Amino acid sequence: MAQTTPLLNLIALNADEMRSLVQELGWPRYRTNQILRWLYQHRVLDIETMTNLSKADRARLQDVATIHRMVSPSPAVASDGTVKFVWNLEDGLAVETVLIPEGRRRTLCLSSQVGCTLDCGFCLTAEMGLKRSLRAHEIVGQVLNAQAYLPEGEHLTSLVFMGMGEPLVNFEPLAEAIQRLTNIEWGLGFSPRRITVSTAGWIPRFPDVRRLGVNLAISLNATTNEQRARLMPAVNGRYDLSGLLEACRHYTQFSERPLTFEYVLLAGVNDSLDDARRLVSVLYGIRCKVNLIPFNEFPGSMFRRPAPDVIETFQRIVRNKGLDVFLRKSRGDDVLGACGQLGRSASEVLNRTTTNKKRNLPLYAQP
Ligand code: SF4
Repeated sequence: MAQTTPLLNLIALNADEMRSLVQELGWPRYRTNQILRWLYQHRVLDIETMTNLSKADRARLQDVATIHRMVSPSPAVASDGTVKFVWNLEDGLAVETVLIPEGRRRTLCLSSQVGCTLDCGFCLTAEMGLKRSLRAHEIVGQVLNAQAYLPEGEHLTSLVFMGMGEPLVNFEPLAEAIQRLTNIEWGLGFSPRRITVSTAGWIPRFPDVRRLGVNLAISLNATTNEQRARLMPAVNGRYDLSGLLEACRHYTQFSERPLTFEYVLLAGVNDSLDDARRLVSVLYGIRCKVNLIPFNEFPGSMFRRPAPDVIETFQRIVRNKGLDVFLRKSRGDDVLGACGQLGRSASEVLNRTTTNKKRNLPLYAQP
């Protein structure tokens, strides 16, 4: 019986692979960019609609290739307009993306892995462990699909890698995805200034991020090494707080962009007056701003969100010392789309117990 060769997924090819395909088909070189433009600028899902290819060439391409993007069965829309997409991947796994509308801004929070390599104690995604890292086209697919979801005339204004996973552990696909997102000639044409990569502190990749020209955010969450080792044991075990801060200081010396530090405020854990003062002192000499993120509670979580007056005092202390410090509003928490809540359905979360036996984390703030 004759064996059929599986069709290539055009969106899974990088520009070099597309060039090779065009060459194999015996077509002129300019055809590579024509096809790439159809995929990323016109966002077509059918080779038949590539109308600057002749009918015969379209048929030839359809003999060997197809366009397959992942699908989201039905996005969940939160009461504040935040949209959570759960994309089905080809191997049966699923990954999540969150669209955050605010005024005229449309921010997309992207995932880089299914689950996560790391084990931050306050993060729901961490409980999944790592299922696998995403490929470049699965990262770009989140952007293409979210853009397609928006009504005519609305556009994504910024992209943040703050969803599931540690992006810098999956660096090559991340860099390839950013290349497709920022390429002006045939790609999506995003300015690198509108893209932020957030890391738990995977410092060997900091110079590579600087070369990409995108913004870098650090998920800090602690002001002593002991505190960080408890909250973020995996990453801190490799790169401790002092090494991280040294890498950050070095980064801002060679980058024109300031860093952003994310600090999840956990009641009774890292929200004291001493924590606020120490935060100012550990960031001394680093060009940066600080985003405070009051913990987004979920059923079964061992942490609690600090009271509003505690949050306000923390922010005031940091601001009075001259640092730019902002309070991030919680968005989409009624669909588990808020920061640190990705990776579990609402029903799974409701069935959890209040202790986390699997990871044996200390209970800092019992309800
Ligand atoms: S906070 Fe980010 S890096 Fe840490 S476990 Fe969650 S997804 Fe991974």
